[in-house]
Amino acid sequence: MGKVIPIGTRKRVALVAHDNRKQDLLEWARYNRGTLSKHELFATGTTGKMLADKLGLDVNRLLSGPLGGDQQVGAMISEGALDFMIFFWDPLEPQPHDPDVKALLRIAVLYNIPTACNRSTADFIISSPLMSEEYDRIQIDYASRLRR
Ligand code: PGA
Repeated sequence: MGKVIPIGTRKRVALVAHDNRKQDLLEWARYNRGTLSKHELFATGTTGKMLADKLGLDVNRLLSGPLGGDQQVGAMISEGALDFMIFFWDPLEPQPHDPDVKALLRIAVLYNIPTACNRSTADFIISSPLMSEEYDRIQIDYASRLRR
């Protein structure tokens, strides 16, 4: 068993999309604009600019992914400052910041953060009744496993 971390009704959402997936994310966010606007949004630089410019969403912009934005998202997850993540990464093209992408996906699993890497998963997450309810996220106690 681990620690219970309550997630409030207003979620803190990270949105990240690689260049070849940005259009997909934009279409998804346009469709779900009403729901997204009820939550607190964070995004890597270019993704955030796109969502703000094209959809008028209020987005807290971090650095661009290749310049450290993915690491900022990972750090926020580690510090308990994000509740879920929409991360449309590109399965066909290597990225200059591939180590950061891998690190971010690992941190999201470690902290039990709901993560959508494609549109259908994002649809299931955003249409979940839990989006508008409180939720107890269970943080596995990995620290005890690391003690030898
Ligand atoms: P970007 O970064 O939103 O600045 O394009 C995304 C990424 O490459 O992780």
